[in-house]
Amino acid sequence: MKLSTKILIALALGVVAGLILNLAVPDAFSTLDKYVLKPVGTLFLNLIKMLVVPIVFFSIVLGTAGLGDPKKLGRVGAKTVGYFLGTTTIAIIIAMALALVFKPGVGDFETEGAKFEQQEAPAVTDTLLNIIPTNPIQAMTEGNMLQIIAFSVFVGFALTMLGSKTKGVMDLIEQGNDIMMYLVNVIMKFAPYGAFALIASAVGSQGMDAIKAMGLYMSVVILALFLHSVVAYGGSIALFAKKSPIWFFKGFAPAMSVAFSTSSSNATLPISMKTAQENLGVRKSISGFVQPLGATINMDGTAIMQGVATIFIAQVYDVNLGITEMLTVILTAVLASIGTAGVPGVGLIMLAMVLNSVGLPVEGIALILGVDRLLDMLRTAVNITGDAACAVIVDKGEDKHLGTREQEVSA
Ligand code: ASP
Repeated sequence: MKLSTKILIALALGVVAGLILNLAVPDAFSTLDKYVLKPVGTLFLNLIKMLVVPIVFFSIVLGTAGLGDPKKLGRVGAKTVGYFLGTTTIAIIIAMALALVFKPGVGDFETEGAKFEQQEAPAVTDTLLNIIPTNPIQAMTEGNMLQIIAFSVFVGFALTMLGSKTKGVMDLIEQGNDIMMYLVNVIMKFAPYGAFALIASAVGSQGMDAIKAMGLYMSVVILALFLHSVVAYGGSIALFAKKSPIWFFKGFAPAMSVAFSTSSSNATLPISMKTAQENLGVRKSISGFVQPLGATINMDGTAIMQGVATIFIAQVYDVNLGITEMLTVILTAVLASIGTAGVPGVGLIMLAMVLNSVGLPVEGIALILGVDRLLDMLRTAVNITGDAACAVIVDKGEDKHLGTREQEVSA
């Protein structure tokens, strides 16, 4: 049986097991969760997280060096950032439009006593200003993605400029990358078990009452995620890469299912890169540049949750948002998507920033807190799919510029 089929079956079994345990034997669930599901899930998560920092460093260095001269780098960089910003804007517009039509927040919601401890959301300007690390080793130990990316781009650029002089280091980095990719393969064998444990644990500990109360809100988010994937990703794949959207989604499904079970774009990164390179034929140099960047700054799924949540909270608190406020929401949500780290639950923290920008009560977040764990899984899968779609399109666009596809596409 193919690994991707195994993972999908594990996901389905995980949902069923989680539901049955939750509804039938809640007490047995907590014991099982504590001693079996959580440990197995954490083990899997840690195994893939272990590879993230070295993979980002190696692949961005190689990606930058592989693109060669700064002109190519500029072209690929501009297309990538353009695609990210464009699709995120579309995502938030779809989300807000659907929420305005379906009105998930109109009805009886208990707002009395709702509390949400607002955590300090990092200011986006600070994130952008801090992009150059004063200490790259510290950036790596802290896992500061944008800083690691910036440092790696510099190193890759220097390697190109120095050419044969630094061939030894280049070989070393190439081999380092091979080692990491080999380890991804090994760890993926464990993915079905890890995915099962993570999903069963998440579904099993979900309050079912919250799901009932928030059914319409959840449905609107899910519908927006689905529409966005079909329209923005499917559409742009067909239009710009001249490829079938079905081929794209089918090929990328294994990475989506891992994102779904881990709720973390960062943790899924090694697998999303491997999947894009092997199943979608994206050049290593493009995948190695576009996907780590996307996992860090491109979060369409998160923007969708924030768009629906903002309209939902406005409806619950009976606040009318005018056109200026809507535009402010779009702008802040795009910025929030850049500032959101690719780890579980951060989208909700950044939502506070969006709500603040139009003066909506941050306590409203308390209402959606209960169901956010489940939505996080779905939106993370969408987040990384946007990065892969961008990689396929940029890769296609480089066909006429970069000739060496055959050598570069991994075997
Ligand atoms: N979990 C999401 C991700 O890693 C971020 C979020 O929306 O919370 O992409």
